[in-house]
Amino acid sequence: MISSPTALRRVTVLGSTGSIGVNTLDVVSRHPERFQVFALTACRQTEALLRQCLIHRPAVAVVGDADGADWLRTRLAEAGLTTEILWGPEALVDVARAAETDIVMAAIVGAAGLPSALAAARAGKQVLLANKEALVVSGQLFMDAVVMGGARLLPIDSEHNAVFQALPGNYGRLPDQAGVRRILLTASGGPFRRRSLHELEAVTPEEACAHPNWVMGRKISVDSATMMNKGLEVIEAHWLFGASADRIQVVVHPQSVIHSMVEYADGSVLAQLGNPDMRTPIAYGLAYPDRVASGVAPLDLCAVGQLNFEAPDFVRFPCLSLAYDALREGGSAPALLNAANEVAVAAFLNHQIPYLAIPNVIRRVLERAERTTVSSLEGVLEADAIGRRWALSLLN
Ligand code: NAD
Ligand code: MG
Repeated sequence: MISSPTALRRVTVLGSTGSIGVNTLDVVSRHPERFQVFALTACRQTEALLRQCLIHRPAVAVVGDADGADWLRTRLAEAGLTTEILWGPEALVDVARAAETDIVMAAIVGAAGLPSALAAARAGKQVLLANKEALVVSGQLFMDAVVMGGARLLPIDSEHNAVFQALPGNYGRLPDQAGVRRILLTASGGPFRRRSLHELEAVTPEEACAHPNWVMGRKISVDSATMMNKGLEVIEAHWLFGASADRIQVVVHPQSVIHSMVEYADGSVLAQLGNPDMRTPIAYGLAYPDRVASGVAPLDLCAVGQLNFEAPDFVRFPCLSLAYDALREGGSAPALLNAANEVAVAAFLNHQIPYLAIPNVIRRVLERAERTTVSSLEGVLEADAIGRRWALSLLN
């Protein structure tokens, strides 16, 4: 029997030089009969982008500024490539919604990735959402754009990808009829799971970025250390699956083998397991609904030996409570939370503030910042700007 050929699908990778971007290109390159790169984008890492362009030969490449674009254009012309080079935020939106792309991997870090991710949703693309901050800040606006644009939204965050897989028929929204009771989001607990508050006073950015199970960008690594990452993921799960805060429980699971679970009314709990390697959810999102090789080693449960679970500690990890509070408040509170966190984490990474100041900055921003409406992209960006202004004023 001759198997039917799969149509070649054209992929845009927003944030291709980052940790998720590199893993995405790794999976893409394993399946040249399925995927072709249409566009690659980076902010400042033009040399890494050049290397990617030479291998993947995209039609378009986008960088952060005009100087970077000139540099890349010259190098690619020397190599005989006809790649079109664009720069700036508008160009990210253009490649995200271009007619020549079918799949958009949204892997820019932070709220900076919102306009392009939203553009992909509005244009009805298959949107692979790694950029959780985009959904946290825009919530309803983003989910409405997915529905109105006719997009297919596939979560790449490993937890949400696991939940998506454990829901009936890969349902993207919590089906009330299907007897889903709760979502159980697993958390590794990060590098400081066992540290006392006192020991946390002097931790350095290098220690915070040394995650026990995952290799990730620096911002999300610090978020994992503070557990703000899990807080953002609770908000992300709320929007993706239509679950209230009370129906999303965080379970600390240090081995990061169970990527999350769905609990049903009859007492069943369905889990998705695998080695902690982002290429699994990325391959799932790229080939959906097919399953394709990702390069991830098979899970050896006998070698893993034990799976442990414990409750999160909201005292040592106050960012988790701050995120639940922002979700319960709704409106612009999650956008303020995210903006304050981005500013505070950047300041910590630059050795400007100590680790324990991160939750304090966020708490004060949420106490003081005015609330605004977030029903349009402009409204969301305004809330983001308000949060950043307050956070910066607290740093000074
Ligand atoms: P990273 O820092 O390694 O890469 C970020 C990418 O975004 C780079 O390509 C960078 O050039 C680009 N970028 C940064 N700022 C930009 C800006 N202002 N404009 C345009 N491009 C910009 O980050 P990462 O670890 O790959 O994470 C990317 C996203 O995926 C984040 O939202 C993160 O929370 C999410 N995520 C990551 C992982 C992981 O394992 N790394 C897992 C789950 C979710
Ligand atoms: Mg995650």
